[in-house]
Amino acid sequence: MTGTPYLLSIDHLLSEEERLVWKSARDFCERRIAPVIEKHYEHATFPRDLIPEFAEMGFLGATLQGYGCAGMGPVAYGLTMIELERQDSGIRSFCSVQSALAMYPIHAFGDEAQRERWLPGMARGEVIGAFGLTEPNSGSDPGSMRTHARQHEAGGDYVLSGQKFWITNSPIADVMIVWARTLEHGSDTPVVRGFLVERGMAGLSTPETKGKLSLRASMTGEIVLDEVKVPKANLLPGVSGLKGPLSCLTQARYGIGWGTMGAAEACFAAARSYTLDRKQFGRPLAATQLVQLKLANMVTEISLGLQAALRVGRRLEAGHLIPESISLLKRNNCGKALDIARVARDMHGGNGISAEYQVMRHAQNLETVNTYEGTHDVHALILGRAITGIPAF
Ligand SMILES: Cc1cc2nc3c(=O)[nH]c(=O)nc-3n(C[C@H](O)[C@H](O)[C@H](O)COP(=O)(O)OP(=O)(O)OC[C@H]3O[C@@H](n4cnc5c(N)ncnc54)[C@H](O)[C@@H]3O)c2cc1C
Repeated sequence: MTGTPYLLSIDHLLSEEERLVWKSARDFCERRIAPVIEKHYEHATFPRDLIPEFAEMGFLGATLQGYGCAGMGPVAYGLTMIELERQDSGIRSFCSVQSALAMYPIHAFGDEAQRERWLPGMARGEVIGAFGLTEPNSGSDPGSMRTHARQHEAGGDYVLSGQKFWITNSPIADVMIVWARTLEHGSDTPVVRGFLVERGMAGLSTPETKGKLSLRASMTGEIVLDEVKVPKANLLPGVSGLKGPLSCLTQARYGIGWGTMGAAEACFAAARSYTLDRKQFGRPLAATQLVQLKLANMVTEISLGLQAALRVGRRLEAGHLIPESISLLKRNNCGKALDIARVARDMHGGNGISAEYQVMRHAQNLETVNTYEGTHDVHALILGRAITGIPAF
């Protein structure tokens, strides 16, 4: 499939259907995203006009069953993530947030009325979702969140106050899953609950975050809640506590584990082709031992990263969801992809900083991907806790 010399290719481990999904995602992304991504990155705009086409391709809510969603298996979904991120991590982020962070919680924790109301429009790309967990003073430690929901009477509506920060899609979102602390009636211990906050509710604003030097083709903003009245019917009834947002993040991190290998492959392919063409000291750069070592390291890490993603995907298919294995996948594949992108940038010399050669855009994007959805180091602490039994956060 990739045309690159992966000695541990995953192609023969895929079903016919998975290969077809992979090929059609690749064709689509090359045809529709590749020609416009550089311009959007430069102008820090998101290609909204492509959203209906993402929907048609089944990218929105891809793994969910019913409600107009594609119901893809976890491996087929992972392959679409590779192709989206081969073009740009920001475009993959849009689809990840819509699918894993906005549609998934409605599907998993919403009631039937909420599912019927939101999911079909979200699958068609007519309703855009966002996921509000991070706050200015609460990132890696979401338990310290300050956003809160007050209920004046048991069984009544809620009033939400607080600020969410660094929220993908918030400036264009129609519905935002906002995680807030609330006191259940009769209890004096606050608990985290999820709320469907709708554009147009009084007291809600979503200012765009400007000045990003990474993920520029993705919309990022805040969710500011100034005494926003949210009907009780907008509370996600099926979950309480941090396991709500954390289980959404597990879904999204799985897709990132695959997607980052797409960005890494793009950087590897660019570095290979550039160093085969570029001559210095009377021979192609690729004829030098140092360059071959770098290419060999890239192929090794991408091959191993894809094998790991496939392994986790097959476990998910069999119903085994082990969050630590997804931490391992997210951490390793983001870290390796970022290393590969930085080395590929270096291998392009001065041309490496030019938008035309793409590698610097991928490297800049992967700085964010390495940080969001649990930083590289925080995932090390999750693994450390699993290994030692001691939480060291
Ligand atoms: C472009 C972009 C899009 C995003 N989209 C979303 C979104 O849609 N929804 C959402 O809710 N959030 C989103 N985020 C937020 C993202 O998830 C957070 O930035 C991330 O969780 C890290 O939190 P923080 O930025 O507060 O960093 P901090 O938690 O302050 O961490 C700063 C540094 O300290 C390290 N650190 C933290 N704790 C420890 C510890 N105990 N021991 C050692 N080191 C530690 C971290 O690894 C990191 O290197 C987005 C971020 C970006 C940049």
